[in-house]
Amino acid sequence: MKLTMLGTGNALATECYNTCFILDDHGKLFMTDGGGGNNVLHQIRHAGYDLMDIRHIFVTHKHIDHLLGIIWMVRMICQFMNHGDYQGEAYIYSHAEVLGLIRDMAGKLLKKEAAFIDDRLHLVEVHNDETLNIIDKPVTFFDIESTKAKQFGFRMEYESGKVLTCAGDEPLTVEKYAYGSEWLLHEAFCLYSQADIFNPYEKHHSTVKDACQLAEKLGVKNLLLYHTEDRNLSKRKKLYMEEGSQYYHGNLYIPDDLECISL
Ligand SMILES: [Zn+2]
Repeated sequence: MKLTMLGTGNALATECYNTCFILDDHGKLFMTDGGGGNNVLHQIRHAGYDLMDIRHIFVTHKHIDHLLGIIWMVRMICQFMNHGDYQGEAYIYSHAEVLGLIRDMAGKLLKKEAAFIDDRLHLVEVHNDETLNIIDKPVTFFDIESTKAKQFGFRMEYESGKVLTCAGDEPLTVEKYAYGSEWLLHEAFCLYSQADIFNPYEKHHSTVKDACQLAEKLGVKNLLLYHTEDRNLSKRKKLYMEEGSQYYHGNLYIPDDLECISL
């Protein structure tokens, strides 16, 4: 299994793409979130993927830095279905609020392409603590109990006994889903040492220090931090590693956009 980050930035990042990624198990793809726009298509292509091969997409929540790229995915998948280029079925998984928005926007904004929704593009509602089989892996979705907008994360058992937990873009509070995970994907808005510049707590986000302390407590083997500010981008890896390694003794990853990691 490998993970490719399509984007690593927070909502307002313009120097990198908004946070979204693809899990790839020997060509079976599971994409999470779409970032904020049409650039998702560029990122997919530059990551070496063909949109035609993406059949399973999960959307964490309705914020536009995660949702609007999904509208582009819907448009392109349906357009390719209409032209006979996209074979088979596609699935978008999320909770009811997000699916309602996708259905509404696609119905109002897209024309004949929208006819493929519920026909070959399926909007699959997931519930808290529900496990579905996606790309032949058990994936358990959970409500992260956000106070801003309803948001789900997930945990996937990607190999026997090995779990990857995605906590969405807010601090993980429902810790039971991440205890002992092989991988935790967690947001880090900025360095703790720069919290006075970026004000992460006002926006209900974590710093590198916070996320690292949490991962240490949970006994996570590998921690990947995303959804960051973009003003330190050229030095982000180094700066974030320096701060994080003081609080976390597992393997810390601060990926760049389009970076691919073996899980
Ligand atoms: Zn976000």
